[in-house]
Amino acid sequence: MLRRRALVLAALPLGGAPWAAQAEAAYAGPLFDAHLHYNDDAQQPHPPADVLARMARAGVRGALVNSRPNDGTLRLVAEGGPAWVPFVRLYRNRADYTGWFADDSIRRMVLAMLEAGSPAGPFRGLGEFHLYDSANADGSTAVALMKLARERGLTVLAHVDDVAVDKLLGHAPGAALIWAHAGISGEPVARVQALLHKHPGLRGELSYRPGLTQDGRLSDDWRALLSRHADRFLIGSDTWVTQRWQHYEALFADYRGWLGQLPREVAQRIAWGNAAALFGLAAPTAA
Ligand SMILES: [Zn+2]
Repeated sequence: MLRRRALVLAALPLGGAPWAAQAEAAYAGPLFDAHLHYNDDAQQPHPPADVLARMARAGVRGALVNSRPNDGTLRLVAEGGPAWVPFVRLYRNRADYTGWFADDSIRRMVLAMLEAGSPAGPFRGLGEFHLYDSANADGSTAVALMKLARERGLTVLAHVDDVAVDKLLGHAPGAALIWAHAGISGEPVARVQALLHKHPGLRGELSYRPGLTQDGRLSDDWRALLSRHADRFLIGSDTWVTQRWQHYEALFADYRGWLGQLPREVAQRIAWGNAAALFGLAAPTAA
């Protein structure tokens, strides 16, 4: 190991670290949070005014919002403010996490919620949902909801593995699916790229993605992938536990840091432009 490290150090160019200049130019434009939860347990410590203030301080001007149960989403988007993109969460409670994919009452709940809409307008998608075993991507409700999403032009937010991504989009070719975390088990970059090539409706959301950065620096293979497929990635907070709200601004400051290591146009797309294109959002007005 020591010998190998010496070789790596010797390979660095003279005159200091190659990323020193880039580190100064954090991305400064608007951000879209493509993975926001406002779950029941977060609402007392972080009432809507607190959430809106954190978003404003972070420069987050719009968000894909979904909550367990869905009341949290309805409560938050009723506040107005940022460009809200409400999604129907499939879970009424924690028990639904493990059985939704074969539970027809979930499909009926989704239909009723789509019918009712939200204070911010129609629901635009389904999820976030989880599949802990990719075999469950073939569950009757999972298949039905993928077909429903394609029929109605809804986007799906799915926390699943690479096999399940392939299965879900196989059930509804051409559907729009945001892959939450873009491979949270560390699926190889080449595998992520292969899925992007195979499924034109697939996009990746980058919270918790292993190997994306180290010490605030984008890895070389991720920089290449993000640059090559600049129109296919989004960023999100994933406020899945209440504690995550305390780090909301720091999280996006961190994103701004590595976005600044990408070409400006690439950074703009990942930060805001891809969500704006997917959901038809207007350019944000000046802060
Ligand atoms: Zn999540």
